[in-house]
Amino acid sequence: MTVPVLTVDLAAFESNLERMRARVAPAQFMLVVKDDAYGHGVGAIVQRAAANGVEWFAGYDVRTALEVREVIGSAGSQRIVALLADGDYAHAVAAGIELGVGDTETLQEIVAASPHAPARVHVKIDTGLHRNGIRPEEWADAIRLASALESEGRLDVVGIWSHIAEASDAEDDEAQEIFAAAVRQAATAGLRPGVHHLAASAAAHARPEFRYDLTRIGAFAYGIRPAGGPSESELGIRPIATLQAPVVRVDGASAQIAIGALDGLASTLAGRMQVRTPAGARRLLEVGEDSCVVEGWSGAAPGQLVGVWGADAEASATDAAEQIDTIGEEIVTRLSPRVARRYVG
Ligand SMILES: *Cc1c(COP(=O)(O)O)cnc(C)c1O
Repeated sequence: MTVPVLTVDLAAFESNLERMRARVAPAQFMLVVKDDAYGHGVGAIVQRAAANGVEWFAGYDVRTALEVREVIGSAGSQRIVALLADGDYAHAVAAGIELGVGDTETLQEIVAASPHAPARVHVKIDTGLHRNGIRPEEWADAIRLASALESEGRLDVVGIWSHIAEASDAEDDEAQEIFAAAVRQAATAGLRPGVHHLAASAAAHARPEFRYDLTRIGAFAYGIRPAGGPSESELGIRPIATLQAPVVRVDGASAQIAIGALDGLASTLAGRMQVRTPAGARRLLEVGEDSCVVEGWSGAAPGQLVGVWGADAEASATDAAEQIDTIGEEIVTRLSPRVARRYVG
């Protein structure tokens, strides 16, 4: 093997799933699989999660939602959501994909594209992130439109949702007030969505009042703790992946391993972290385009595997991220397709 490999432990993934599902219950659990299941590979992740009883899946776009549908088929009871409907609506609706909608133009496009089957939508209120979502001042009109379309049988509003920063409790509290008001307005307008959802991993874990009926969990399911936040053991999760690279050359006091910036390893990590060699921890000295230089060890030989980050290395993805002021998700999702994926457990 002369390419880096990301080994994903599906048993560890299941254990994170079970911990998080128990944690958020009685709220339901939605597994977020955007960015190729945070770099872990959407196929294997969705398959294992469905076998473990996960009932809700979310991609960010329609393409990912359709990939999930491919993996689980259409016989089961699982529900699949494209959080931000971005086109291909007729196909998505026909495939039973539920669509997240953050503006009234998209709502109308979806209705126009699915004249025979009412589209199931999750309407998003912007509670302060200003990324997308219907602004509070436009919410009443949007809800009136959705309610009218629903009474005509052309739309089914199955969810109301928003996304929050999870950066400070005070900001999240403000967002929740806006959300609660939007939910009340929707009820007054006659909408009866089955689910309300606001929280991602951090708020779902720490703040019961943010869980509503459904929580959208990505990072914690993959064992990625928040940068600067609580440890994995405090959260009851563990990293599920290890990135390893084989030794390709030994040069006196150093060894070269087959992973570099082209594989998605941040070059700024050079000099800032340790890797796990067969002889123990050694410093990562340089990050080149397609190889890295690490401090040598006695007995170093081509073919030996060196753990770069993850469950079986010196640093988790978030540990590495903290060295360069980013987040664990960024370390994991930037891995290129050149990195082989392998599944155990
Ligand atoms: C990524 C994402 C999530 C999951 O966030 P985590 O912090 O990884 O759990 C939830 N909701 C939306 C809209 C997202 O984009």
